[in-house]
Amino acid sequence: MCKLKNYIDENLPKVLKQDTATSLGDRSKYIGASDIGGCLRKAYLSKLKHEKHDIQQLIVFERGHVAETIIAKMLKGTPAKQQVEAVGKAKNGFPIRAHLDFEVDFGPVSVVIEAKSTSIPVDEPYYSWILQEQLQMGLLKNKNKGKAVRGYIVAIDVNTGWYKTFKVEPNQALYDIAMNRANILAEALVNKQEPEAEAQLYCAKCSFKGDCPAITCGVTDQLPEDVIEVAKKIASLNKVEKEIKALKTQLKDYMEATETRIVKADNHTVSLISRKGKKTVDIDLMKQMMPDVYSKFECNDSGYSYLKVV
Ligand code: SF4
Repeated sequence: MCKLKNYIDENLPKVLKQDTATSLGDRSKYIGASDIGGCLRKAYLSKLKHEKHDIQQLIVFERGHVAETIIAKMLKGTPAKQQVEAVGKAKNGFPIRAHLDFEVDFGPVSVVIEAKSTSIPVDEPYYSWILQEQLQMGLLKNKNKGKAVRGYIVAIDVNTGWYKTFKVEPNQALYDIAMNRANILAEALVNKQEPEAEAQLYCAKCSFKGDCPAITCGVTDQLPEDVIEVAKKIASLNKVEKEIKALKTQLKDYMEATETRIVKADNHTVSLISRKGKKTVDIDLMKQMMPDVYSKFECNDSGYSYLKVV
């Protein structure tokens, strides 16, 4: 194997681990704002056990830092401070430490700005993002007594350049939900009792999915050895499927921009195939405008089965 690759595979995880320890300290000793937005079981286990990520995942995670660097440039000219800490305590005394990506101090008002990297455009911020920001704003308000606090989330797709800003108003009810989740996690950590698993969009990439009740539904039965290999192969090809989709989009964009319908790529032929739109019936509109007609034609479909390997 290539010597440089060997060096990178060994060095990058060490460097990133050191970077995290330097900027965030020992994350097992406190609850961070990002811990309470998503699955509490994952947050709990990643504090208790060392979470292992392969090199590809580590590189993907770095997009978050790239997004933050871009936003720092977007905010240049404002009094923005980076990595500001706001602290609190759970009911049982377990420390809560929120690291704000940015605090922009405008005197009577402080603005919390959270950077989020995304690989797909999002119309609305995820609930987990909002809870994280509510906790950050609440803790900052306690720190800067007498000051008003406002919040924004800036989501960026560093691959396409898409970005969007979302205003997040402080909301006491949402802050209470966020604090309640911090209390559940703090209790779990002190009593060494796993909190309930909450399925997320990122379950497929979670290091603790192997014995997760939300994913395995409590099933422990293993497939026979040979069939395990088939399932593992499917799981590894899931990544390739995504890669093919992204490459096809790139090639299709090129073909459309250059108005090329068919072209050679060495021994391969690449064709841009277009289908004419078909006339169809808008079922949702029909349901809304002509419910009687819709109900006459409503029927049960026969259903289908499909395979999911995460
Ligand atoms: S697999 Fe999903 S539900 Fe289970 S611990 Fe991981 S994130 Fe939580």
